[in-house]
Amino acid sequence: MKPKYNRVIIKLSGEALAGDKAFGIDPGTITSICKNIKDAKDLGVEIAIVVGGGNIFRGRDGEGIDRSTADYMGMLATVINGLALQDALEAMGVPVRVQTAIEMKEVAEPYIRRKAMRHLEKGRIVIFASGTGNPYFSTDTTAALRAAEIDAEVILSAKKVDGVYDSDPKLNPNAKKIDVLSYIDVLNRGLKVMDSTAISLCMDNNIPVLVFGLEQPENIVKVLCGENIGTIVKE
Ligand code: UDP
Repeated sequence: MKPKYNRVIIKLSGEALAGDKAFGIDPGTITSICKNIKDAKDLGVEIAIVVGGGNIFRGRDGEGIDRSTADYMGMLATVINGLALQDALEAMGVPVRVQTAIEMKEVAEPYIRRKAMRHLEKGRIVIFASGTGNPYFSTDTTAALRAAEIDAEVILSAKKVDGVYDSDPKLNPNAKKIDVLSYIDVLNRGLKVMDSTAISLCMDNNIPVLVFGLEQPENIVKVLCGENIGTIVKE
């Protein structure tokens, strides 16, 4: 199979790492996702991963906790996930570096854009953890920001659902999957693809977003090779 892209960002939500569990990290799920990421890398694609933290903590769910503090807790959750991914990929012989937007040198490298790009050129996977380093943002926005910074051609947004629907498929059995959407459609219709800050950043920088499901982990390779699964959001 021939990949359609040279450099991509894979956005993995925290939820995707929990498997069937409501909370935490499911080792089997991480292993199967990482195996597919390795297959994708072996096609010659440069891969950076932005990892979420919702399986451990989300700032907006921190009832009674000051919002900024809760957001920092959420960012720390993404570091836990990033280390788990690093470990699973390394166990498969894949060279990986975790970079954090909040400095914690004993744990991971600080985020340095040029260094991240050098790692990618050398065939290493780079995992961006701790979001943007700022409260009130999301890891979706981080994916958009890092994609723009490192010249990634596309964001692969791997989710638990297999694309974007016109209504919630869990609540409405007649919900229809949408194949192609424009950024402005997503914003106007309030579709839950990414938050509005993230979509705006993608729109302003013309970064397409491919939303697809991880129910079959090999979907990452399929999407990279241009198979039309899921939903594409573009101009
Ligand atoms: N977060 C933040 N700034 C960022 C990225 C993340 O404050 O730049 C916090 C925020 O509280 C968020 C949490 O980290 O809820 C976890 O990230 P996110 O909810 O995006 O994870 P996902 O839903 O993808 O698992």
